Amino acid sequence: MATAALEHELAKVVGAEAVVAPESHLLTDMTGLRGRAEAVVLPSSAEAVAQTVAWCYEHGVPITPRGGGTGLAGGAVPDGGIVLGLERLARVRSFDPLLWRMCAEAGVTTATVQRTAREGGLFFAPDPGAAELSQLGGNIATNAAGPHAFKYGGTGAWVTGLEVVVAPGELVTVGGAIRKDVAGYDLRSLLVGSEGTLGIVTAAWLKLLPAPEVTLPVVAFHADTASGCEAILRVLGHGARAAAIEYLDGEALASGAASCEAGVPDGAGFMVIAEADGSVDEAERIRAELVEALSGSALAVHAPRDREGQEALWRWRAGLAFAVLARRGSALSDDIVVPLDRLAEAIEETVGIGRRHDLVALSFGHAGDGNLHSTFLVAPESPDELERAFAACEELFDLATRLGGSISGEHGVGVLKRGQLRRQWAPRTLELHAAVKAAFDPRNLLNPGKKLGA
Ligand SMILES: Cc1cc2nc3c(=O)[nH]c(=O)nc-3n(C[C@H](O)[C@H](O)[C@H](O)COP(=O)(O)OP(=O)(O)OC[C@H]3O[C@@H](n4cnc5c(N)ncnc54)[C@H](O)[C@@H]3O)c2cc1C
Repeated sequence: MATAALEHELAKVVGAEAVVAPESHLLTDMTGLRGRAEAVVLPSSAEAVAQTVAWCYEHGVPITPRGGGTGLAGGAVPDGGIVLGLERLARVRSFDPLLWRMCAEAGVTTATVQRTAREGGLFFAPDPGAAELSQLGGNIATNAAGPHAFKYGGTGAWVTGLEVVVAPGELVTVGGAIRKDVAGYDLRSLLVGSEGTLGIVTAAWLKLLPAPEVTLPVVAFHADTASGCEAILRVLGHGARAAAIEYLDGEALASGAASCEAGVPDGAGFMVIAEADGSVDEAERIRAELVEALSGSALAVHAPRDREGQEALWRWRAGLAFAVLARRGSALSDDIVVPLDRLAEAIEETVGIGRRHDLVALSFGHAGDGNLHSTFLVAPESPDELERAFAACEELFDLATRLGGSISGEHGVGVLKRGQLRRQWAPRTLELHAAVKAAFDPRNLLNPGKKLGA
């Protein structure tokens, strides 16, 4: 259906104010991929989302759900049909600090969820790096994680219930404000991380935790990947209950060194950032354990106590992806995950793959979870470099599966990793994936071509 006709029909369903022009920023995400859509709908209520889906389902119009557009897999990039943006569902419906719970709509930003919890003395740990822009619905659809997932789990671990629009346009709830539920199959877990291919999240019930009294980071610089990864394994071996364990390899460290307030010692080729949290006594004990475990062969260990120093450190870590991008103007980056005892191998092999394809390669990421952001730097004006980077990513996915890992630890499959699932799943498991999709979305209109596409 042509844009004008589609917009006209949708306006009759959800009101003209909910139908907006498909402006270019709504057709892309942080990958820079650009899609196309005939119309964009921004409903203001869950019921309006259901009406939109019902109309699209009846008329065979594909739907691409969109949160904050910070995704790194192209999942929110449309390929025709409509973009269904959740940004106007931005209400915290209820917050019960004394019961450690919140119910928030899908379009509430991650940072608002974090801030609201904090204002009530509580804590929402998922901390993906673009929290001011990303939305709760997008976090749930990608099962987003971040540094503190090491101790506290990804977004899914905080979701007790979902309100979701499923085909052919019905608003249903799975779970709710309850902390346990074993009735039926675990549809909540199935929807978490489904990248908008099974349903459209309109709201979620979250279970929260009392905020830790203090957080105390510890930074250690090592000469190389081998000694840095040994130190990380020592942290686990010591039983030090770190809240986060992050790493940067030599090239990643070089990318951000100039702006690192802590200073980078000469000869440093690997950096570990760990964090202790809890009550004052507990955090101090864990901090001491972290300092001891990370020291060993370290070139330097730095453990800022002042709030400003701590905030500067995490701000610097959050900005690292941009410092890396600035190196050559662009990059292809994937979020493979490997068993922790294979982390050093995966980090070194990332560099080796880059070398074989004549590309600068580096990685940084969530070491405690074995989750690398393996990155190949490319010049945007060089199609040849881009082609080599895509070939390098293929090798990277092979590496992940060979080491017993997964092609995606937190960003999802989207379009960028489309077709890669066959590397890690047996044919029968792939059939089950297809059967789940068909059960939820028999007309294949919910984010078609994402996650499971060939
Ligand atoms: C600088 C930077 C750092 C990042 N760091 C991290 C990190 O540490 N950890 C991490 O996990 N991610 C990280 N990300 C990736 C990204 O922020 C997360 O994937 C985030 O969860 C995406 O949320 P969003 O609202 O922007 O979703 P979008 O990008 O809009 O969409 C992502 C996917 O979710 C689907 N979707 C969105 N909303 C809904 C909904 N309501 N219902 C159903 N489907 C929906 C979309 O169709 C798409 O498939 C980072 C991104 C940037 C730019």
